[in-house]
Amino acid sequence: MVNTTIKTTKSQETFAAAQHLMPGGVSSPVRAFKSVGGQPIVFDRVNGAYIWDVDGNQYIDYVGSWGPAICGHAHPEVITALHTALEKGTSFGAPCVLENVLAEMVIDAVKSIEMVRFVNSGTEACMAVLRLMRAFTNREKIIKFEGCYHGHADMFLVKAGSGVATLGLPDSPGVPKAVTRSTLTAPFNDLEAVKALFEENRDEIAGVILEPVVGNAGFITPDAGFLEGLRELTHEHGALLVFDEVMTGFRIAYGGAQEKFGITPDLTTLGKVIGGGLPVGAYGGRRDIMSMVAPAGPVYQAGTLSGNPLAMTAGIKTLELLQKPGTYEYLARITQKLADGLVQIAQETGHPACGGNISAMFGLFFTDGPVHNYEDAKKSDTAKFGRFHRGMLERGIYLAPSQFEAGFTSLAHTDEDIEQTLAAVRDVMSSL
Ligand SMILES: *Cc1c(COP(=O)(O)O)cnc(C)c1O
Repeated sequence: MVNTTIKTTKSQETFAAAQHLMPGGVSSPVRAFKSVGGQPIVFDRVNGAYIWDVDGNQYIDYVGSWGPAICGHAHPEVITALHTALEKGTSFGAPCVLENVLAEMVIDAVKSIEMVRFVNSGTEACMAVLRLMRAFTNREKIIKFEGCYHGHADMFLVKAGSGVATLGLPDSPGVPKAVTRSTLTAPFNDLEAVKALFEENRDEIAGVILEPVVGNAGFITPDAGFLEGLRELTHEHGALLVFDEVMTGFRIAYGGAQEKFGITPDLTTLGKVIGGGLPVGAYGGRRDIMSMVAPAGPVYQAGTLSGNPLAMTAGIKTLELLQKPGTYEYLARITQKLADGLVQIAQETGHPACGGNISAMFGLFFTDGPVHNYEDAKKSDTAKFGRFHRGMLERGIYLAPSQFEAGFTSLAHTDEDIEQTLAAVRDVMSSL
Protein backbone atom coordinates (compact mmCIF):
# COMPACT_ATOMS: atom_id res chain seq x y z
CA MET A 1 0.00 0.00 0.00
CA VAL A 2 1.13 3.51 -0.84
CA ASN A 3 2.23 5.65 2.09
CA THR A 4 -0.25 8.32 2.89
CA THR A 5 0.20 11.44 4.91
CA ILE A 6 -3.45 11.81 5.80
CA LYS A 7 -4.98 9.82 8.62
CA THR A 8 -7.17 7.12 7.14
CA THR A 9 -7.43 4.63 10.00
CA LYS A 10 -11.21 4.34 9.95
CA SER A 11 -11.32 4.11 6.16
CA GLN A 12 -8.83 1.26 6.32
CA GLU A 13 -10.70 -0.56 9.08
CA THR A 14 -14.03 -0.20 7.31
CA PHE A 15 -12.64 -1.31 3.97
CA ALA A 16 -10.82 -4.27 5.57
CA ALA A 17 -14.07 -5.40 7.20
CA ALA A 18 -15.92 -4.90 3.92
CA GLN A 19 -13.59 -7.38 2.19
CA HIS A 20 -15.30 -10.23 4.04
CA LEU A 21 -18.79 -8.93 3.40
CA MET A 22 -18.85 -7.86 -0.23
CA PRO A 23 -16.76 -8.96 -3.23
CA GLY A 24 -13.71 -6.71 -3.24
CA GLY A 25 -15.25 -4.77 -0.38
CA VAL A 26 -17.39 -2.64 -2.68
CA SER A 27 -20.76 -2.38 -4.39
CA SER A 28 -19.19 -1.30 -7.71
CA PRO A 29 -15.67 -2.19 -8.92
CA VAL A 30 -13.96 1.15 -9.71
CA ARG A 31 -14.53 2.28 -6.12
CA ALA A 32 -11.94 -0.22 -4.91
CA PHE A 33 -9.03 1.91 -6.29
CA LYS A 34 -7.48 -1.13 -8.01
CA SER A 35 -6.19 0.93 -10.91
CA VAL A 36 -4.60 3.70 -8.86
CA GLY A 37 -3.27 1.60 -5.99
CA GLY A 38 -3.68 2.24 -2.31
CA GLN A 39 -6.71 2.06 -0.10
CA PRO A 40 -10.01 3.57 -1.10
CA ILE A 41 -11.46 6.28 1.10
CA VAL A 42 -14.70 5.50 2.90
CA PHE A 43 -17.11 8.42 3.01
CA ASP A 44 -19.37 9.72 5.69
CA ARG A 45 -21.17 12.68 4.11
CA VAL A 46 -21.28 15.02 1.14
CA ASN A 47 -22.25 18.66 0.74
CA GLY A 48 -21.86 21.10 -2.15
CA ALA A 49 -18.48 20.53 -3.82
CA TYR A 50 -17.13 18.63 -0.83
CA ILE A 51 -17.01 15.18 0.66
CA TRP A 52 -15.88 14.09 4.10
CA ASP A 53 -14.45 10.69 4.91
CA VAL A 54 -15.01 8.63 8.05
CA ASP A 55 -11.74 9.95 9.50
CA GLY A 56 -12.95 13.53 9.15
CA ASN A 57 -10.83 14.56 6.15
CA GLN A 58 -12.46 16.97 3.72
CA TYR A 59 -11.98 16.78 -0.06
CA ILE A 60 -13.00 18.83 -3.07
CA ASP A 61 -14.94 16.28 -5.09
CA TYR A 62 -14.61 15.87 -8.86
CA VAL A 63 -16.53 12.60 -9.06
CA GLY A 64 -19.92 13.91 -7.99
CA SER A 65 -21.20 10.39 -7.40
CA TRP A 66 -20.12 9.71 -11.02
CA GLY A 67 -22.23 12.48 -12.43
CA PRO A 68 -25.54 13.03 -10.67
CA ALA A 69 -24.31 15.78 -8.32
CA ILE A 70 -24.28 18.52 -10.97
CA CYS A 71 -25.96 21.06 -8.66
CA GLY A 72 -23.58 20.16 -5.85
CA HIS A 73 -24.12 17.40 -3.34
CA ALA A 74 -27.13 17.55 -1.03
CA HIS A 75 -28.41 20.78 -2.57
CA PRO A 76 -30.72 22.33 0.05
CA GLU A 77 -33.62 22.64 -2.41
CA VAL A 78 -33.28 18.99 -3.45
CA ILE A 79 -33.11 17.89 0.18
CA THR A 80 -36.16 19.96 1.13
CA ALA A 81 -38.15 18.60 -1.81
CA LEU A 82 -37.14 15.08 -0.81
CA HIS A 83 -38.24 15.65 2.80
CA THR A 84 -41.67 16.71 1.57
CA ALA A 85 -41.91 13.76 -0.80
CA LEU A 86 -40.72 11.34 1.88
CA GLU A 87 -43.65 12.25 4.11
CA LYS A 88 -45.95 10.89 1.40
CA GLY A 89 -44.17 7.54 1.35
CA THR A 90 -41.24 5.99 -0.43
CA SER A 91 -42.81 3.97 -3.23
CA PHE A 92 -46.22 3.60 -4.81
CA GLY A 93 -45.73 0.93 -7.45
CA ALA A 94 -48.48 2.74 -9.31
CA PRO A 95 -48.72 5.83 -11.50
CA CYS A 96 -47.81 9.12 -9.81
CA VAL A 97 -48.06 12.74 -10.96
CA LEU A 98 -44.33 13.26 -10.48
CA GLU A 99 -43.63 10.90 -13.37
CA ASN A 100 -45.63 13.15 -15.70
CA VAL A 101 -43.72 16.18 -14.46
CA LEU A 102 -40.27 14.69 -15.01
CA ALA A 103 -41.32 13.07 -18.30
CA GLU A 104 -42.47 16.44 -19.62
CA MET A 105 -39.25 18.07 -18.52
CA VAL A 106 -37.19 15.38 -20.27
CA ILE A 107 -39.28 15.55 -23.44
CA ASP A 108 -39.02 19.35 -23.52
CA ALA A 109 -35.27 19.25 -23.00
CA VAL A 110 -34.07 16.38 -25.16
CA LYS A 111 -34.81 16.85 -28.84
CA SER A 112 -35.04 13.18 -29.84
CA ILE A 113 -37.36 12.22 -27.01
CA GLU A 114 -41.09 12.24 -27.72
CA MET A 115 -41.93 9.56 -25.14
CA VAL A 116 -39.94 8.26 -22.22
CA ARG A 117 -39.86 5.22 -19.91
CA PHE A 118 -38.30 5.50 -16.47
CA VAL A 119 -36.16 2.70 -15.06
CA ASN A 120 -33.77 2.46 -12.12
CA SER A 121 -30.28 2.72 -13.59
CA GLY A 122 -28.35 3.50 -16.72
CA THR A 123 -27.63 -0.19 -17.15
CA GLU A 124 -31.32 -0.95 -17.21
CA ALA A 125 -31.99 1.85 -19.68
CA CYS A 126 -29.36 0.52 -22.09
CA MET A 127 -30.57 -3.09 -21.79
CA ALA A 128 -34.09 -2.00 -22.55
CA VAL A 129 -33.14 0.26 -25.44
CA LEU A 130 -31.24 -2.57 -27.07
CA ARG A 131 -34.26 -4.88 -26.92
CA LEU A 132 -36.33 -2.09 -28.43
CA MET A 133 -33.80 -1.43 -31.23
CA ARG A 134 -33.90 -5.09 -32.16
CA ALA A 135 -37.66 -5.34 -31.96
CA PHE A 136 -38.28 -2.24 -34.04
CA THR A 137 -35.86 -3.16 -36.82
CA ASN A 138 -36.38 -6.90 -36.58
CA ARG A 139 -32.57 -7.21 -36.76
CA GLU A 140 -30.17 -8.56 -34.15
CA LYS A 141 -26.73 -7.07 -34.63
CA ILE A 142 -25.63 -3.82 -33.07
CA ILE A 143 -22.53 -1.69 -33.37
CA LYS A 144 -20.85 -0.26 -30.30
CA PHE A 145 -17.51 1.47 -29.93
CA GLU A 146 -14.38 0.32 -28.15
CA GLY A 147 -14.13 1.95 -24.74
CA CYS A 148 -17.78 2.98 -24.63
CA TYR A 149 -19.65 1.76 -21.57
CA HIS A 150 -23.36 1.07 -21.69
CA GLY A 151 -23.83 -0.62 -18.34
CA HIS A 152 -22.98 -4.18 -17.36
CA ALA A 153 -25.56 -6.16 -19.37
CA ASP A 154 -24.14 -9.16 -21.25
CA MET A 155 -24.45 -7.84 -24.76
CA PHE A 156 -22.53 -4.65 -23.96
CA LEU A 157 -19.58 -6.30 -22.24
CA VAL A 158 -17.49 -6.26 -25.35
CA LYS A 159 -14.64 -3.77 -25.31
CA ALA A 160 -16.54 -1.84 -22.67
CA GLY A 161 -14.80 1.01 -20.89
CA SER A 162 -15.14 2.16 -17.29
CA GLY A 163 -14.48 -0.53 -14.70
CA VAL A 164 -13.93 -3.14 -17.38
CA ALA A 165 -11.15 -0.99 -18.85
CA THR A 166 -9.82 -0.23 -15.43
CA LEU A 167 -9.57 -3.86 -14.44
CA GLY A 168 -8.15 -4.88 -17.80
CA LEU A 169 -10.88 -7.44 -18.39
CA PRO A 170 -11.27 -7.73 -22.16
CA ASP A 171 -14.66 -9.23 -21.53
CA SER A 172 -16.29 -10.97 -18.60
CA PRO A 173 -16.56 -14.66 -17.87
CA GLY A 174 -20.18 -15.66 -17.67
CA VAL A 175 -21.16 -13.73 -20.76
CA PRO A 176 -22.40 -16.25 -23.36
CA LYS A 177 -20.63 -16.06 -26.72
CA ALA A 178 -24.00 -16.35 -28.41
CA VAL A 179 -24.99 -13.06 -26.84
CA THR A 180 -21.94 -11.02 -27.74
CA ARG A 181 -21.70 -12.48 -31.25
CA SER A 182 -24.27 -9.90 -32.33
CA THR A 183 -22.28 -7.05 -30.79
CA LEU A 184 -19.96 -5.60 -33.42
CA THR A 185 -17.33 -3.09 -32.35
CA ALA A 186 -15.46 -0.28 -34.05
CA PRO A 187 -12.92 2.27 -32.84
CA PHE A 188 -14.51 5.56 -31.75
CA ASN A 189 -14.21 8.32 -34.38
CA ASP A 190 -13.63 5.75 -37.14
CA LEU A 191 -16.44 6.19 -39.67
CA GLU A 192 -14.73 3.95 -42.22
CA ALA A 193 -14.79 1.04 -39.77
CA VAL A 194 -18.50 1.58 -39.19
CA LYS A 195 -19.10 1.78 -42.92
CA ALA A 196 -17.28 -1.52 -43.39
CA LEU A 197 -19.37 -3.20 -40.69
CA PHE A 198 -22.55 -2.04 -42.41
CA GLU A 199 -21.28 -3.38 -45.74
CA GLU A 200 -20.32 -6.73 -44.27
CA ASN A 201 -23.61 -7.11 -42.40
CA ARG A 202 -26.17 -5.79 -44.86
CA ASP A 203 -29.72 -5.58 -43.48
CA GLU A 204 -28.59 -7.22 -40.25
CA ILE A 205 -27.68 -4.23 -38.09
CA ALA A 206 -30.39 -2.92 -35.79
CA GLY A 207 -28.46 0.16 -34.88
CA VAL A 208 -25.47 1.98 -33.53
CA ILE A 209 -25.18 2.90 -29.86
CA LEU A 210 -22.54 5.24 -28.51
CA GLU A 211 -21.54 7.73 -25.89
CA PRO A 212 -21.62 10.85 -28.11
CA VAL A 213 -18.85 12.22 -25.91
CA VAL A 214 -16.96 9.34 -24.32
CA GLY A 215 -16.56 9.48 -20.57
CA ASN A 216 -15.87 5.86 -19.78
CA ALA A 217 -12.49 5.57 -21.50
CA GLY A 218 -11.42 8.89 -20.11
CA PHE A 219 -12.80 12.02 -21.76
CA ILE A 220 -12.86 11.71 -25.58
CA THR A 221 -14.74 14.06 -27.90
CA PRO A 222 -16.23 13.20 -31.30
CA ASP A 223 -14.21 14.45 -34.28
CA ALA A 224 -15.93 16.90 -36.61
CA GLY A 225 -18.29 14.95 -38.87
CA PHE A 226 -18.27 11.72 -36.85
CA LEU A 227 -21.74 12.04 -35.33
CA GLU A 228 -23.11 13.43 -38.62
CA GLY A 229 -21.57 10.47 -40.44
CA LEU A 230 -23.20 7.99 -38.07
CA ARG A 231 -26.54 9.70 -38.55
CA GLU A 232 -26.21 9.38 -42.34
CA LEU A 233 -24.97 5.80 -42.28
CA THR A 234 -27.75 4.62 -39.99
CA HIS A 235 -30.37 6.34 -42.15
CA GLU A 236 -28.89 4.85 -45.28
CA HIS A 237 -28.99 1.31 -43.85
CA GLY A 238 -32.36 1.48 -42.12
CA ALA A 239 -30.70 1.22 -38.72
CA LEU A 240 -31.31 3.22 -35.56
CA LEU A 241 -28.93 5.69 -33.97
CA VAL A 242 -28.89 5.60 -30.18
CA PHE A 243 -27.13 8.15 -28.03
CA ASP A 244 -26.27 6.83 -24.60
CA GLU A 245 -26.52 10.11 -22.73
CA VAL A 246 -26.53 8.57 -19.27
CA MET A 247 -23.44 10.67 -18.58
CA THR A 248 -23.74 13.57 -21.03
CA GLY A 249 -27.48 14.17 -20.61
CA PHE A 250 -28.14 17.49 -18.83
CA ARG A 251 -24.39 17.70 -18.19
CA ILE A 252 -22.67 18.96 -21.33
CA ALA A 253 -25.78 20.98 -22.20
CA TYR A 254 -29.33 21.01 -20.83
CA GLY A 255 -30.40 19.10 -23.94
CA GLY A 256 -27.34 16.82 -23.80
CA ALA A 257 -24.89 16.02 -26.58
CA GLN A 258 -27.67 16.04 -29.17
CA GLU A 259 -28.26 19.73 -28.41
CA LYS A 260 -24.54 20.49 -28.23
CA PHE A 261 -23.77 18.88 -31.60
CA GLY A 262 -27.11 19.36 -33.32
CA ILE A 263 -27.58 15.68 -34.17
CA THR A 264 -30.89 14.00 -33.43
CA PRO A 265 -30.66 10.27 -32.65
CA ASP A 266 -33.68 7.96 -32.82
CA LEU A 267 -33.41 6.84 -29.21
CA THR A 268 -31.63 8.15 -26.14
CA THR A 269 -30.74 6.70 -22.76
CA LEU A 270 -30.46 8.84 -19.65
CA GLY A 271 -29.54 8.36 -16.00
CA LYS A 272 -27.25 10.00 -13.46
CA VAL A 273 -28.29 13.71 -13.49
CA ILE A 274 -32.00 13.01 -14.06
CA GLY A 275 -32.14 11.16 -10.73
CA GLY A 276 -30.51 13.98 -8.79
CA GLY A 277 -28.55 11.42 -6.76
CA LEU A 278 -31.26 8.80 -6.45
CA PRO A 279 -31.31 5.62 -8.54
CA VAL A 280 -32.83 6.45 -11.95
CA GLY A 281 -32.45 5.69 -15.59
CA ALA A 282 -34.64 6.45 -18.58
CA TYR A 283 -34.91 5.71 -22.26
CA GLY A 284 -36.90 7.55 -24.83
CA GLY A 285 -37.14 8.64 -28.41
CA ARG A 286 -39.39 8.66 -31.43
CA ARG A 287 -43.03 8.06 -30.61
CA ASP A 288 -43.39 5.31 -33.24
CA ILE A 289 -40.52 3.38 -31.67
CA MET A 290 -41.44 4.00 -28.03
CA SER A 291 -45.01 2.93 -28.76
CA MET A 292 -43.67 -0.61 -29.09
CA VAL A 293 -42.86 -0.71 -25.36
CA ALA A 294 -45.28 -2.66 -23.14
CA PRO A 295 -48.10 -2.17 -22.38
CA ALA A 296 -48.54 0.11 -25.42
CA GLY A 297 -46.77 -2.51 -27.53
CA PRO A 298 -45.26 -5.99 -27.37
CA VAL A 299 -41.70 -5.21 -26.17
CA TYR A 300 -41.64 -6.24 -22.54
CA GLN A 301 -39.91 -4.17 -19.90
CA ALA A 302 -40.99 -3.50 -16.33
CA GLY A 303 -39.76 -2.42 -12.89
CA THR A 304 -41.07 -2.61 -9.32
CA LEU A 305 -39.52 0.69 -8.27
CA SER A 306 -39.53 2.44 -11.66
CA GLY A 307 -40.85 6.00 -11.54
CA ASN A 308 -40.18 6.03 -7.81
CA PRO A 309 -41.55 9.24 -6.25
CA LEU A 310 -38.33 10.09 -4.38
CA ALA A 311 -36.19 9.63 -7.48
CA MET A 312 -38.66 11.63 -9.58
CA THR A 313 -38.61 14.41 -6.98
CA ALA A 314 -34.83 14.66 -6.86
CA GLY A 315 -34.71 14.63 -10.66
CA ILE A 316 -37.36 17.31 -11.06
CA LYS A 317 -35.70 19.64 -8.56
CA THR A 318 -32.27 19.07 -10.10
CA LEU A 319 -33.54 19.93 -13.58
CA GLU A 320 -35.32 23.01 -12.21
CA LEU A 321 -32.06 24.21 -10.70
CA LEU A 322 -30.29 23.60 -14.01
CA GLN A 323 -32.87 25.70 -15.87
CA LYS A 324 -31.82 28.86 -14.06
CA PRO A 325 -30.14 31.36 -16.37
CA GLY A 326 -26.37 31.15 -16.54
CA THR A 327 -25.91 27.67 -15.08
CA TYR A 328 -24.27 26.12 -18.12
CA GLU A 329 -22.16 29.22 -18.76
CA TYR A 330 -20.93 28.96 -15.19
CA LEU A 331 -20.21 25.24 -15.47
CA ALA A 332 -18.37 25.77 -18.75
CA ARG A 333 -16.26 28.60 -17.34
CA ILE A 334 -15.04 26.94 -14.15
CA THR A 335 -14.54 23.57 -15.81
CA GLN A 336 -12.50 25.05 -18.61
CA LYS A 337 -10.38 26.87 -16.06
CA LEU A 338 -9.71 23.54 -14.40
CA ALA A 339 -9.13 21.56 -17.60
CA ASP A 340 -6.84 24.20 -19.13
CA GLY A 341 -4.94 24.45 -15.86
CA LEU A 342 -4.43 20.71 -15.68
CA VAL A 343 -2.90 20.47 -19.15
CA GLN A 344 -0.85 23.64 -18.76
CA ILE A 345 0.63 22.63 -15.41
CA ALA A 346 1.37 19.13 -16.69
CA GLN A 347 3.27 20.58 -19.63
CA GLU A 348 5.10 23.13 -17.48
CA THR A 349 6.21 20.40 -15.12
CA GLY A 350 7.41 18.20 -17.98
CA HIS A 351 4.68 15.59 -18.22
CA PRO A 352 3.28 14.57 -21.60
CA ALA A 353 -0.43 15.25 -21.23
CA CYS A 354 -3.57 16.21 -23.08
CA GLY A 355 -7.10 16.87 -22.03
CA GLY A 356 -10.07 19.13 -22.25
CA ASN A 357 -13.66 19.66 -21.26
CA ILE A 358 -17.15 20.22 -22.57
CA SER A 359 -19.17 22.11 -20.05
CA ALA A 360 -19.05 20.25 -16.74
CA MET A 361 -17.25 17.14 -17.99
CA PHE A 362 -13.45 17.03 -18.25
CA GLY A 363 -10.45 14.78 -18.60
CA LEU A 364 -6.68 14.57 -18.53
CA PHE A 365 -4.57 11.84 -20.10
CA PHE A 366 -0.92 11.33 -19.27
CA THR A 367 0.02 11.00 -22.94
CA ASP A 368 0.90 13.52 -25.64
CA GLY A 369 -2.24 12.69 -27.54
CA PRO A 370 -4.28 13.62 -29.37
CA VAL A 371 -6.69 10.98 -28.06
CA HIS A 372 -9.34 10.09 -30.63
CA ASN A 373 -10.25 6.66 -29.34
CA TYR A 374 -9.63 4.03 -26.70
CA GLU A 375 -6.40 2.77 -28.33
CA ASP A 376 -4.97 6.28 -28.05
CA ALA A 377 -6.20 6.58 -24.46
CA LYS A 378 -4.44 3.35 -23.52
CA LYS A 379 -1.08 4.95 -24.38
CA SER A 380 -1.47 6.94 -21.15
CA ASP A 381 0.97 6.40 -18.32
CA THR A 382 -1.43 4.81 -15.87
CA ALA A 383 1.23 4.25 -13.21
CA LYS A 384 1.86 7.98 -13.25
CA PHE A 385 -1.85 8.62 -13.04
CA GLY A 386 -1.97 6.40 -9.96
CA ARG A 387 0.74 8.46 -8.23
CA PHE A 388 -0.96 11.68 -9.31
CA HIS A 389 -4.28 10.46 -7.93
CA ARG A 390 -2.77 9.55 -4.56
CA GLY A 391 -0.90 12.86 -4.35
CA MET A 392 -4.10 14.77 -5.02
CA LEU A 393 -6.00 12.71 -2.47
CA GLU A 394 -3.43 13.59 0.17
CA ARG A 395 -3.95 17.24 -0.67
CA GLY A 396 -7.71 17.03 -0.24
CA ILE A 397 -8.74 16.59 -3.86
CA TYR A 398 -10.89 13.60 -4.80
CA LEU A 399 -10.51 12.58 -8.45
CA ALA A 400 -12.04 9.55 -10.15
CA PRO A 401 -9.75 6.66 -9.22
CA SER A 402 -8.93 5.69 -12.82
CA GLN A 403 -7.20 7.19 -15.83
CA PHE A 404 -10.16 5.94 -17.86
CA GLU A 405 -12.94 7.95 -16.25
CA ALA A 406 -14.06 11.51 -16.98
CA GLY A 407 -14.17 14.09 -14.20
CA PHE A 408 -17.17 16.16 -13.19
CA THR A 409 -17.69 19.62 -11.75
CA SER A 410 -20.85 21.12 -10.30
CA LEU A 411 -22.58 24.44 -9.70
CA ALA A 412 -21.19 24.28 -6.17
CA HIS A 413 -17.54 24.39 -7.30
CA THR A 414 -16.17 27.91 -6.85
CA ASP A 415 -13.26 29.70 -8.48
CA GLU A 416 -11.49 29.27 -5.16
CA ASP A 417 -12.01 25.50 -5.28
CA ILE A 418 -10.55 25.39 -8.77
CA GLU A 419 -7.57 27.53 -7.76
CA GLN A 420 -6.93 25.38 -4.69
CA THR A 421 -7.15 22.31 -6.90
CA LEU A 422 -4.69 23.69 -9.45
CA ALA A 423 -2.24 24.63 -6.69
CA ALA A 424 -2.38 21.01 -5.54
CA VAL A 425 -1.92 19.86 -9.14
CA ARG A 426 1.24 21.95 -9.46
CA ASP A 427 2.55 20.64 -6.18
CA VAL A 428 1.91 16.99 -7.07
CA MET A 429 3.07 17.20 -10.68
CA SER A 430 6.32 18.88 -9.66
CA SER A 431 7.29 15.77 -7.75
CA LEU A 432 5.74 12.97 -9.84
C1 LIG B 1 -22.88 5.24 -15.91
C2 LIG B 1 -23.20 4.88 -17.30
C3 LIG B 1 -24.05 3.80 -17.60
C4 LIG B 1 -24.57 2.87 -16.55
O1 LIG B 1 -25.39 3.52 -15.63
P1 LIG B 1 -25.62 2.84 -14.18
O2 LIG B 1 -26.62 3.75 -13.54
O3 LIG B 1 -24.28 2.85 -13.51
O4 LIG B 1 -26.13 1.48 -14.41
C5 LIG B 1 -24.38 3.58 -18.91
N1 LIG B 1 -23.92 4.37 -19.89
C6 LIG B 1 -23.10 5.41 -19.65
C7 LIG B 1 -22.63 6.27 -20.78
C8 LIG B 1 -22.69 5.69 -18.34
O5 LIG B 1 -21.85 6.69 -18.11
